[in-house]
Amino acid sequence: MTTRNGVLRILSLVDFFLRAPEFQPMIRYSWYSSGLGELEKPDFKTAKEICFDLGDMKCSTCEKDAFIRCNWCLKFLCFEECFHDYHVMICGKRDDFFLSLTHLEHN
Ligand SMILES: [Zn+2]
Ligand SMILES: [Zn+2]
Repeated sequence: MTTRNGVLRILSLVDFFLRAPEFQPMIRYSWYSSGLGELEKPDFKTAKEICFDLGDMKCSTCEKDAFIRCNWCLKFLCFEECFHDYHVMICGKRDDFFLSLTHLEHN
């Protein structure tokens, strides 16, 4: 894989994970903290708490150490299954992700 394709894949995966509903309070907090919206401070979990508090967890489908928790399907993923297998296209909740993109286009 070329470096450019690797960078595009990383950006796509970050976009995929950040669009999950679990991140909505964190995104709303940015509006609150900037003073541009949100009158009440939303409680939120950080990206570390949501995706990377893995402890000794193993990948949900193999025995490798978990690299990240998918906050769409809630599975623990090793690096290979997240990055090389491009989890966006094999996530069990990818339809919800694509539906969320459609929802954004109509608002
Ligand atoms: Zn794995
Ligand atoms: Zn997933």
